[in-house]
Amino acid sequence: MKTRVLFIGGCGRSGSTLLSVFLNAHPGMVSVGELKFLPEWIARDAPCTCGRPVSACEFWRDIAAGLAGRRRAESGESGESATRLGDEELSEVIEAVRDRTGCRVIVDSSKTVADLDRLKRREDIDLYVIHLVRDGRGYLRSRTKPVKHSTVRPEVQEPVSAVKAIGRWLATNLEYSRQDARLPPDRLMRVRYEDFVRDPESELARICGFVGLEFDPAMLEDGMHDCHDIGGNGWRYAQSSAIRLELDESWRRRLSPWQKLLFAVGASWLNRRYGY
Ligand SMILES: [Zn+2]
Repeated sequence: MKTRVLFIGGCGRSGSTLLSVFLNAHPGMVSVGELKFLPEWIARDAPCTCGRPVSACEFWRDIAAGLAGRRRAESGESGESATRLGDEELSEVIEAVRDRTGCRVIVDSSKTVADLDRLKRREDIDLYVIHLVRDGRGYLRSRTKPVKHSTVRPEVQEPVSAVKAIGRWLATNLEYSRQDARLPPDRLMRVRYEDFVRDPESELARICGFVGLEFDPAMLEDGMHDCHDIGGNGWRYAQSSAIRLELDESWRRRLSPWQKLLFAVGASWLNRRYGY
């Protein structure tokens, strides 16, 4: 039996952690966060969203132990498997999550096209893809501002230059725009972060229809209940139950005139294509 996976792709800082938490509240969907980081999370025994290290989290404990055990048995064959899930391992983990939760749809927010391509190659995966976009100026602000909150992966939170941020936003979104020609139209949908925050019910209903599920009002009520995401934005650890959706448009005030000009010259053409 094929396992249905909803893959969230796009740039970081585009609301994928937020979206995955809301999707996870659907009784037929379970979010695993950024599955690509699972080997790293196991190696560091890092906490998932529930706050427990994976070895103590009841969602991940057995899956992590199974994966670590198989790797020990096969050790010596390949050094690269230490930091990334192999293709077989990827399917095994997804299948284990499906069997453990009974959910029809597994949500993976690994985001990169390389991770999407790995899933595409798996014949046991029934793949649906969301290209999550955010106004590039919001991404630019988010990637260039100094970050105050602590996270479990402080190294990925380091600010980058405006040129680098714009380059990454362009490259990643163009890669996903190219997927329009590589995936059937009923397997790829575009979701704008701003539309989701302004009208979560409409966007969540649209996503449910896309993956063949009925919208469930629990998605708007349950907040962080029973969430075990790997990776993702550090804010999730600070959440209690209800999540307040607030559109972050601080870029309007906080981007410098130079940054706005740079974006206008280099990337506004693609921003307009997404309706910004
Ligand atoms: Zn957990």
